[in-house]
Amino acid sequence: MSRTRTYRCLNCLEHTIDREFDTSHLSVTCPNCESFERFVNEAAYQQFRAFEESPPDELDWERLERTEKLVVAERLARSTKTIEDFAVVESNGDEGDGDEGDGDEDESADAGAESPIPE
Ligand SMILES: [Zn+2]
Repeated sequence: MSRTRTYRCLNCLEHTIDREFDTSHLSVTCPNCESFERFVNEAAYQQFRAFEESPPDELDWERLERTEKLVVAERLARSTKTIEDFAVVESNGDEGDGDEGDGDEDESADAGAESPIPE
């Protein structure tokens, strides 16, 4: 059986193409709008649409550029990342006491992502 993945044109948002490989996005010329466009994985696009309809509390979704939204959606749809991973990244300090403080909240994310599967 062959599994294909669907990719959607980000320009017209109408044309989709199927490929037999799974990647986050690809760039091809869209036969619909005849422009060389980025096609995103349909799974990512569905995640994007879901957030457009009901933005996540953890993210300042409305303030992201569309491409940034799609990057977030891609990561969420295609990896084990959770929205909290992005909430950390996107927090560009609303409460501004900016004394270059202890920014050690990163790279401690190696917790049990790979537990062996018993057979
Ligand atoms: Zn198109």
